[in-house]
Amino acid sequence: MAYVIKDACISCGACEPECPVSAISAGDDKYVVDAGACIDCGACANICPVDAPVAE
Ligand code: SF4
Ligand code: SF4
Repeated sequence: MAYVIKDACISCGACEPECPVSAISAGDDKYVVDAGACIDCGACANICPVDAPVAE
């Protein structure tokens, strides 16, 4: 399991510093999660203003 950032992402960057394992980085058109590093903590989903990160 890992969180995935959906297309709703507006690239605000708020989630990146919240991730305890630095799994989030800026992608071409949205932020992206390194599925291999994500520990499913949910911090990104909690801070995101548009609910873009979802658990998959
Ligand atoms: Fe990082 Fe937690 Fe979001 Fe996974 S769920 S990307 S570990 S903040
Ligand atoms: Fe995208 Fe939400 Fe992260 Fe902002 S907090 S960069 S909108 S996923």
